[in-house]
Amino acid sequence: TDVQDAPARVTPMMEQYVEIKSANPDSLLFYRMGDFYELFFRDAELASRTLGITLTKRGKHLGEDIPMCGVPVERADDYLQRLIAAGHRVAVCEQTEDPKEAKKRGGKSVVRRDVVRLVTPGTLTEDALLEPRRANLLVAVVRARGETGGFVFGVAHVDVSTGAFAVGEAALASLGAALARLDPAEILVPEALVDELATATGETRGAVTPIPRDMTDAARADARLAGHFGVATAEAFGALSKAELGAAAAVVAYLERTQLASRPPLARPVREGRGAAMEIDAATRANLEIVRTLAGQREGSLLDAVDACVTAGGSRLLGARLAGPLVDVAAIRRRHDAVAAFIEDPAVRRAVRSALAGAPDLARAAQRIAFGRGGPRDLAAIRDALRAADALAARIAPLVPAAEELGAISAALGAADHALGADLAATLDDELPLLKRDGGFVRAGADPALDEARGLRDESRKVIARLQAGYADATDVRTLRIKHNNVLGYFIEVPQAHGERLLKPPHGETFVHRQTMAGAMRFTTTELGDLERRIGEAGQTALGLELAQFDRLAAQVTASWDASRACAEALAALDVAAALAEVAVDCGHVRPHVDDTLDFRLEGARHPVVERALKRGGKPFVPNDVTLSEAELDAGIVQLVTGPNMGGKSTYLRQAALCAVLAQAGAYVPAKAAHIGVVDRLYSRVGAADDLARGRSTFMVEMVETAAILNTAGPRSLVILDEIGRGTATFDGLSIAWAAIEHLHEVNRCRSLFATHFHELTALARRLGRLRNATVRVKEWKGEVVFLHEVAPGVADRSYGIQVAKLAGLPPMVVRRAKAVLDELEAADRASPVERMIDDLPLFAAARPKPEAGPDPVAEELDGIDPDELTPKGALEALYRLKALR
Ligand code: ADP
Repeated sequence: TDVQDAPARVTPMMEQYVEIKSANPDSLLFYRMGDFYELFFRDAELASRTLGITLTKRGKHLGEDIPMCGVPVERADDYLQRLIAAGHRVAVCEQTEDPKEAKKRGGKSVVRRDVVRLVTPGTLTEDALLEPRRANLLVAVVRARGETGGFVFGVAHVDVSTGAFAVGEAALASLGAALARLDPAEILVPEALVDELATATGETRGAVTPIPRDMTDAARADARLAGHFGVATAEAFGALSKAELGAAAAVVAYLERTQLASRPPLARPVREGRGAAMEIDAATRANLEIVRTLAGQREGSLLDAVDACVTAGGSRLLGARLAGPLVDVAAIRRRHDAVAAFIEDPAVRRAVRSALAGAPDLARAAQRIAFGRGGPRDLAAIRDALRAADALAARIAPLVPAAEELGAISAALGAADHALGADLAATLDDELPLLKRDGGFVRAGADPALDEARGLRDESRKVIARLQAGYADATDVRTLRIKHNNVLGYFIEVPQAHGERLLKPPHGETFVHRQTMAGAMRFTTTELGDLERRIGEAGQTALGLELAQFDRLAAQVTASWDASRACAEALAALDVAAALAEVAVDCGHVRPHVDDTLDFRLEGARHPVVERALKRGGKPFVPNDVTLSEAELDAGIVQLVTGPNMGGKSTYLRQAALCAVLAQAGAYVPAKAAHIGVVDRLYSRVGAADDLARGRSTFMVEMVETAAILNTAGPRSLVILDEIGRGTATFDGLSIAWAAIEHLHEVNRCRSLFATHFHELTALARRLGRLRNATVRVKEWKGEVVFLHEVAPGVADRSYGIQVAKLAGLPPMVVRRAKAVLDELEAADRASPVERMIDDLPLFAAARPKPEAGPDPVAEELDGIDPDELTPKGALEALYRLKALR
């Protein structure tokens, strides 16, 4: 009101608002006023557009209308979620004192308010704001000098919704892959590095939040981390590198900056060794659709095809495992052992899965409680999970001798806080409200004082019923009722016509008039007033006692937070093992033999996602073999797959890669038999069809990505190249594909599958000793082409492009004409230049350019050696000299 009276002046409230807003310029400010969060000015305009809520005005500021909109506190979660999803950050500003206090200070005083929390994509904990089956990671990247002097990056990640915390290191070249694996919701990057790291962060969908220098101050990192965990020094967490320490401290600093009212509990940071996970860059992940499809959906991904988990925690863990398959053979086998144990004992498997199905999201529930954001249902979730843990520890005991992993799981389940579980079970009621605010969640019989207060309250209600009957008798007004509302409390109501009667004594009772309504009159009595007070007091007492119970239980949950977290992890791991066993049995997956060889053999392998899709349509999937082996002469390590479009080449290539991912993630694979020598890096590229959305020339993208493979693939890599070179003119494309295959064969020397429609390339097998040709078989039947989807050794005799075009419905006239043209071309092309060249062109390795400057010292040394003159000892020495020159 006084805002309008003095248009050019700023009201005290606006003054407060502007001050708080200017401290949080990057966030929408949710400014608490009574039962609403209000937004003003540009925030209001933005929010009303994003949320579709009405924009209104409230007074004036410096002579201008103030745009305003508001969201009810009760439904704030819903609106927050939509704002966060739209890429906004929100500062939640609460009243930090009772409005009565402000009044006491004098007329113009405003209620004190403070920002209690910045809501950002990486700091969410509420179920309404989270996807249950997806981790929500906050990642920090910092740069530091590594031990050898060069730069390394520290990468820390925390899931605020569960408290999981881990750190690791990455080189610049693998930073993109490391971030892509984590799939963060939010990435903290030092202001100065935002541009430099744009490529790496751009490979994820996470929101990038620049953080100021003081959050990444290396000198304060140790103290900051130690301070958060209440230990003397961060050395308590083992030997963290400078980069790791810096990244972990940055996460902690950011949480301190954003979670002002209460800090989320965090587990002590776990160190993730460099190279512990199969390196999969973002393009490969996207391409293989590991945890989501190219369109961004979970449905249709590998994860979706093999996720039979019955808990959200299990699904999250499986997602993380598929995103980061292991490379350590022993660790992989331990996971397979656990799956095997559940396959061998279907009864235990079923029992375990049904027990798990009743075990809610312990990790997130315990975190919310410990974070001060939980409600009665979170306590119940913990109760149910602990109960399940109890039953499960016993249930899996017989399997433990066969599977080490189950031993660890069983131990963690056994170490859960069973007293807490029992206490929760004894204290909580069966039906629970969402919020603790109004009580009603403590079971009758759990707390004698509470029972008494409730008894008093309920008894008084019965007394009221008796009182009503008594008053009706005494006044002879049959329609007399005792009612309750929030304004008057309890009151006596009679129809207006009888009102006078109550005011005239004697009734042995004095009715005091309170209100006259249309058609009714309302009264009270001393006795009713007394009763009301007693009911109110008893209700207050009961509520107080309930809240005390809540706090007591919450304190216990917080005290055993570590054990609960370990228990939640164990439940998730158990769920994953049992679910993978279920999938293996249902879908006919086999245990892969994983070792340190460079072999890669799949017998009767299928593509899990395509197979599922075909099955729904009632069609069979044709299984295929893949054999790549350095040791076995017939096998070769590079396979060149030719054959018509739609023949099944891409599917074949991808299923090989997916089997490697599944095997090393600890799952069984869709095949009859599998032997996989550990793959440390996986690459998959598809020659680009035109994709204008990406802006860059698709051919350029393809080449950049191919370059990355040729420059970095090592002996343990698995490379899948699908139609590389398709995006340019035939000879260009052919030449590039040619050179790429030679490079893979001669320089990278890694296991590779290469699909191409350049049939000319099959001639390369004559020159490259470890290259094998394979083709997808087709049958011609009455002039039509039938795809058999069978991959067999050898070369496709023709490309069937015209038949495929005919299948696709090209007009018959065009098909006939194309055939004629093809015949002409083929006649003219009998002696193709490629055919002639293949025998003439020196092999890639031999064609490698010599170093530009100066003579080659190795050659000079060799020139000086006459083998016929050498003694055996001399020969050995010569060899050492030569090696030293390399
Ligand atoms: P290409 O890469 O040779 O053009 P794709 O791998 O894309 O062919 O396969 C084309 C279609 O053929 C797939 O969408 C799938 O429906 C079917 N297909 C592929 N492989 C198989 C298979 N092994 N068994 C059954 N159907 C298959």
